[in-house]
Amino acid sequence: MMHNHFADIILPLAVMGTFTYGIPEEMSGKVFPGSRVLVQFGKKKLYSGIIFRTHNDSPPSINIRPIISVLDPLPVVNEIQLKFWLWISEYYMCSIGEVMKASLPSDLCLEGVTEVPVMEKYKPREETFVELASEFSENELNIILDNLAKAPKQYKALNAYLSFSGCEDGSNMKAIRKSLLIKETGSSQGTIDSLVRKKILSYITLETGRLSDAELPAEPKKELSKAQHASLDAVSGIFMEKEIALLHGVTSSGKTEIYIHLIEEQLRKGRQVLYLLPEIGLTTQIIQRLNRHFSSVTGIYHSRFSNAEKVEIWNRVAGTDSGKEYRLIVGVRSALLLPFRNLGLVVVDEEQDGSYKQHDPAPRYHARDCAVVLAGLHKAKTILGSASPSIESYNNALSGKYGLVELKERYGLIKMPEIIVANSREAYRKKLMVSHFTPQLLESIDDALGRNEQVILFQNRRGFSPYLECPECSWIPKCIQCAVNLTYHKGINRMICHYCGFSTGIPAQCGNCHSPGMATRGFGTEKIEDEIKIVFPSARVARMDQDTTKGKNSFQRLIRALEERQIDILIGTQMISKGLDIENLTVVGILNADNLLNFPDFRAHERSFHMMEQVSGRAGRRQKVGKVIIQTSDPDNRIIRLVLNHDYKNMFRIQLDERKAFNYPPFCRLLKINIKHKDRSLINSFSDFLGRDLKSHFGRNLLGPEFPLISRVQLWYIKTILIKLDKEKPVAIAKQYIMDSIERLEKEKGSSGLKIAIDVDPY
Ligand code: ADP
Ligand code: ZN
Ligand code: ZN
Repeated sequence: MMHNHFADIILPLAVMGTFTYGIPEEMSGKVFPGSRVLVQFGKKKLYSGIIFRTHNDSPPSINIRPIISVLDPLPVVNEIQLKFWLWISEYYMCSIGEVMKASLPSDLCLEGVTEVPVMEKYKPREETFVELASEFSENELNIILDNLAKAPKQYKALNAYLSFSGCEDGSNMKAIRKSLLIKETGSSQGTIDSLVRKKILSYITLETGRLSDAELPAEPKKELSKAQHASLDAVSGIFMEKEIALLHGVTSSGKTEIYIHLIEEQLRKGRQVLYLLPEIGLTTQIIQRLNRHFSSVTGIYHSRFSNAEKVEIWNRVAGTDSGKEYRLIVGVRSALLLPFRNLGLVVVDEEQDGSYKQHDPAPRYHARDCAVVLAGLHKAKTILGSASPSIESYNNALSGKYGLVELKERYGLIKMPEIIVANSREAYRKKLMVSHFTPQLLESIDDALGRNEQVILFQNRRGFSPYLECPECSWIPKCIQCAVNLTYHKGINRMICHYCGFSTGIPAQCGNCHSPGMATRGFGTEKIEDEIKIVFPSARVARMDQDTTKGKNSFQRLIRALEERQIDILIGTQMISKGLDIENLTVVGILNADNLLNFPDFRAHERSFHMMEQVSGRAGRRQKVGKVIIQTSDPDNRIIRLVLNHDYKNMFRIQLDERKAFNYPPFCRLLKINIKHKDRSLINSFSDFLGRDLKSHFGRNLLGPEFPLISRVQLWYIKTILIKLDKEKPVAIAKQYIMDSIERLEKEKGSSGLKIAIDVDPY
């Protein structure tokens, strides 16, 4: 075979395209697409990069540098991934280097300068093991043991080794961890050293993984109900002719059980399965359920693993860690980027969820949409599941692009929860409110506690109070770096910016008129926690939000406490709205539906509906019928009326009509350009420049440039331009025009202080 002389390499840079390097003769046969190699870039930077392709095309310039070294014996990225990366970079308009950076574990991304040797960051974990120094016959072993009669500690340690390692007859040399031997026998280090000196035992160093391998006995799958069975059959039928099925099943209908059946079928065929969830917190409960059936091949993936653990997960998914391959991966959106070899099925649970979208940094991808593409590359099937599908997916199902399966009953024929709309405006007026709680909510909580049942209260803002305000002049403390109000956190006694993390002390007086006594305004989860403790002093209250779930196992602890009924009332943000399956939970309170509904976004009503459906779905999932209390100052709100009747179909119809009338997705594609500059007047002139240039092409389909709701974050002023791309016209041309237009802007004098980000499907 002829030797390819050039390699196009992906480097971790925000520059479009790949970079061509020479393949030295001695590397011939050692570099492939997907190989990780070290190269020099510019005057003295060194990077590891991934080979995208090798070829013999004449290179663009004669000054081609050679690859410095090949870092692994085999490619670390497979060819399907390379295709996937390319697709992501083209669709989401970012560099393939940015996709690589988001995908590869950071320990595999090396960076350095030419003067210093570049070292690998990942180190396998090594541990000392003990094994027999050589093979002994049973007879020899007996003699050895007899000789140790005068050294009882050594005798005991050797005996323990023999029984742990299961090689009593001396033949099977199984190594066991030294630390285990010491712990189990109460031996000292010295005792084992002595046995090693006598050449009875010896030490060896072995690589061990950081991931736990607890293998549980596999339980049989649950018997499906008649309705579930029909749904499973329907999904299988769809998969005969379509790639994607949308499973629209009410909350607690048993969607997870249906996935389990589908997963088993794929595993049996030897294929891999990816199970995506929107939130880390959710992996805890789902993984427990999946582990009952598939523990030996199941891995989890989310951002809280250490860098070294991420490398090991990567290797297990790739199957390079022999015998320990992960074939079912449960994870959040970034799990999509793992090195799957042969996916058979991708499950996207709660497909409507906004957390599937990555906002920053690039690639700004949507995991559900990418999952469909990834599955296509593997010739795998995709199942999207939801109790209230996104408008886009449901529309795709109605148009026949996806197959649709509807599961309308809860498992065990449990009734849907009863929904009560509590008018908070009226209750305030009649002075019936107790702090932030309506009489209906208080009564329901009281009843539940009386029956020893559990309650969750949903408030989509964390902190104590969204802001402080001077009662005299209405001055509000704001972040010094962002155009947002600071949130008051009482527990730690600080004001915090939820956009940049900036924090400061509590102002004792107004920063404007200096009058003392700032007043708290609005309420967050922390304040609800405080107040509920006052109203129900004997209830056990806990809170689940970003502030209380920072630790690696904090979700697990909270969810376990909830399962074990150590918590009576759990207060939380959107984290508690999804997926939780708690037997004894019967009452759900939505404290303020207004701030969901009034969010200025074309999707706000759809989102509010999803959120309220989801969170209500937590109530009454077993024998008892649940109750949901929605507090609002606008009880006649159309969306609330729809939630009241669990009327998804009408919500969909109304939303779709609106989207059509105002030309929003799914009737067009949206593309947002974010322009940032630290100077207020320059942001205006540069964004006007870009706006004019783009308008000449997009005309009325361009909105802006305008300051977004939060117009300044971390000292950067922001302007946005929104473009509605015509679905009928080729997207590639529009995207190219946008890239060219940005390039023209970047040639303008003084534009180097700009940061420009493109967000495709920015929602
Ligand atoms: P969903 O994902 O649709 O909200 P789940 O799969 O969580 O619903 O099911 C709700 C509850 O009912 C879970 O506790 C689940 O274990 C139980 N369940 C669902 N289907 C079955 C079944 N076929 N047999 C036994 N229990 C089931
Ligand atoms: Zn800030
Ligand atoms: Zn004031």
